[in-house]
Amino acid sequence: MAILVKKFGGSSVATPEKMHGIVDRVLREKKPDDRIVIVVSAMGDSTDDLLDLAAKVTDSMPKRELDMLLSTGEQVSIALLAAAFCSKGQPAVSFTGGQAGIHTSDIHSKATILDVDAKRVIKALDEGKIAIVAGFQGITDEGDITTLGRGGSDTTAVAVAAGIKADFCEIYTDVDGVYTSDPRIVPNAQKMNEITFAEMLELARLGAGVMQPRAVEYGEHNSVAIHVRSTFKDDPGTIIREEYTVQEKNFVIRGVAHDTNVAKIAVKGVPDQPGVAYKIFSALANANVDVDMIIQSVRDIDGSNDILFTVAKTDLVEATSVVESLKDEMGGFNYDVEINVAKVSIVGAGMLGSPGIAAGMFGALAKAGINIAAISTSEISVSCLIKESDVKNAVNAIHEHFFPTT
Ligand code: ADP
Ligand code: ASP
Ligand code: MG
Repeated sequence: MAILVKKFGGSSVATPEKMHGIVDRVLREKKPDDRIVIVVSAMGDSTDDLLDLAAKVTDSMPKRELDMLLSTGEQVSIALLAAAFCSKGQPAVSFTGGQAGIHTSDIHSKATILDVDAKRVIKALDEGKIAIVAGFQGITDEGDITTLGRGGSDTTAVAVAAGIKADFCEIYTDVDGVYTSDPRIVPNAQKMNEITFAEMLELARLGAGVMQPRAVEYGEHNSVAIHVRSTFKDDPGTIIREEYTVQEKNFVIRGVAHDTNVAKIAVKGVPDQPGVAYKIFSALANANVDVDMIIQSVRDIDGSNDILFTVAKTDLVEATSVVESLKDEMGGFNYDVEINVAKVSIVGAGMLGSPGIAAGMFGALAKAGINIAAISTSEISVSCLIKESDVKNAVNAIHEHFFPTT
């Protein structure tokens, strides 16, 4: 007997035919006493369609109402998929995030899962049903619906897998695994057989959209092995786990990621004195804005500083209103906002003991004639801020340097 959580993303459940395809595959592969939970996303692009709809009503949709709206996408999928299973003689029952016991913080649009009380899901499994859980959503202590950020169904799946002590969490998607870079951008990207939680987390954090970073984090903390694989092919995909079981060829750099959900804010001429950075970044934190790259440069002439930082484009409205509100309080400063920027990154635990890796990345960008606006590093990654229009060239140039085709 296996306990399995299978998550199907938006493109995998985009049409009724695709839903029936999932039903056929699950029933074909299911052993009689397997206990199966399926987590689903909204059909196709319906989350984007709901966002467009909201934008037609107002340009400042209250986040609570946006969650109320967006969560309906997943609710459509669970009901239809449960019905599709029932139509083929397999009992199945659908659960919203709240019904599945997914308790979250109250930060609308990017809530975090606090705990999963899976008793209703377990009861359904005990009754021989397949449990179908809505991804991307949860419920607060107050009973309000929350969403977990774009791509959040991955996190639902891993959290439910931890909650029911599943043997595996399978993430079925439109690619057949995790690649060395986004295969839609880099034709030469190679599929990996396995990758560690640490490296996958860093790739995901830096924009590799195949997994939501929180899902990887949750998997690591709760030791849930994750298998990323294709909905449409039977081949094995990529296992995300604690340690490698087999040494693959390239261990210095594992992947190249890019992120276009980036905006740059440059605050100019703030006083060069203690407490200034604290004031700016604590105000941003209080507004739940995650700040990514930070660069401070001292102007020798007038003893003031320029502070440049990046935030997600999706947080730009909040970030600029924080900066605007600090302007008077801090004695006036100028700031400008740039949205046509993007971040490219290399990731690999092996870079720790390999000097010259960052230089290799900068060299590849220089050779492609791409200018770097800012650089940041972690123990296992190097990121460069560049112009958004350079992204495709940059990712391919860097990928070719670290994973040469010849
Ligand atoms: P789903 O709707 O199934 O959750 P997503 O669109 O969220 O699917 O994620 C799958 C997509 O992630 C792929 O189509 C691919 O373009 C993109 N992607 C980005 N980086 C990578 C990578 N390193 N490996 C595989 N896919 C990636
Ligand atoms: N439907 C949500 C989104 O499009 C969640 C998900 O697909 O994981 O982001
Ligand atoms: Mg996804």
